[in-house]
Amino acid sequence: MGGADNLPGFEELSLGQLLETKTGYNVFIDNDANMMGMGEWIYGAAKGCSDIVFLTVGTGIGGALIINNELYGGYKNRGTELGHIIIRHEGLPCSCGSRGCFEAYASATALIDRYRFQNPDALESADGKYIIECYLQQEPAAVAAMTYHFDHMAAGIAGFINIFSPQKIVIGGGISEAGDFYIRELTKK
Ligand SMILES: [Zn+2]
Repeated sequence: MGGADNLPGFEELSLGQLLETKTGYNVFIDNDANMMGMGEWIYGAAKGCSDIVFLTVGTGIGGALIINNELYGGYKNRGTELGHIIIRHEGLPCSCGSRGCFEAYASATALIDRYRFQNPDALESADGKYIIECYLQQEPAAVAAMTYHFDHMAAGIAGFINIFSPQKIVIGGGISEAGDFYIRELTKK
């Protein structure tokens, strides 16, 4: 048991047990990416599969793995931080303190940063949804930023395919709602 850096006061707390007592339900606590993976595996896009890689693409990139019909977490459930595999040695700084992580290149945050780099006059309110709208209208800065995003996303996914040979890669998070073109463009890479 440990704590969460962004939830002060929650250190060494048996949250599952507390919620179970309060609600009378069976409570199972795990990280959000793992729970998204379990949900898609049991009820959603990966129903019936035995080996799956899940990515949640948003502020960062979360990951989860189902290997041989089991959620895989590594030793003490500290693994499957798929957003923090290093894809560029000494690359861009990442929120985890390392540099060159997949997340620093392929998250929605990275997409917005790249768009601002391409278009320094971009609106303060430019978010992932706005950039996708501009991309679909072929705005050059948005096309460049999305191409950069697709290139890095595809490189990360290719790595996961080589390691895990999954039946499916399931992408969740805000960016996955962009539309069918998103998967089409990634598949082309
Ligand atoms: Zn990182």
